[in-house]
Amino acid sequence: MAQQNTNDALFKSAHSALVFAFHFSGQAYDRPAMNKLAAPSLGSGKGLSGLDGAGQAGMIRSKVRGLGPRMEAALIARCAPASMPCECRSPCCGGWKTNREWFDAITELTDYVRKPLAGSAVNGLMRSLYVQRFFAAKGKRSTIDEIAERCYINRQTAGIHYSKVSKVLTDLESQSGQMIEIVLRDAGLLEM
Ligand SMILES: [Zn+2]
Repeated sequence: MAQQNTNDALFKSAHSALVFAFHFSGQAYDRPAMNKLAAPSLGSGKGLSGLDGAGQAGMIRSKVRGLGPRMEAALIARCAPASMPCECRSPCCGGWKTNREWFDAITELTDYVRKPLAGSAVNGLMRSLYVQRFFAAKGKRSTIDEIAERCYINRQTAGIHYSKVSKVLTDLESQSGQMIEIVLRDAGLLEM
């Protein structure tokens, strides 16, 4: 079955494969749209069936997991949605819930950035906000000023913290990106 999947749909890049895999699990996303995302290079007659899409998402996820928790977290934090549609219909619900998978990745990385911040007066909330800023989509990124204000520290201090966090996360992300590219290419999931 895995064999068959590799022939069915090729991704243009490791990034698009990851975006597909980490959105697919959110079952609230409609299947035809996900299948379109799965096989961008193929003509309309050859899209994946829902089952193939799920199998392929599972395969990509297991490759990501194989890189170990740090690299997995860096890839998920970048490619998974932070929130997903919620259909609980409770009156207090805004129709969206935090994506547990994204949240766990942020938690892992919040721990990872203890090291570059060793010796600074930072708490878990601050570390988490720096990590979230690093991975947030451009329009949703908190500013250094907002983080400083929320944590009652001065702007300059927050800026220094963030640059340390940004440096180690940039390195980790670049390493993770190179590794997953090799692994997915090796599995025959990427276009030549
Ligand atoms: Zn809800």
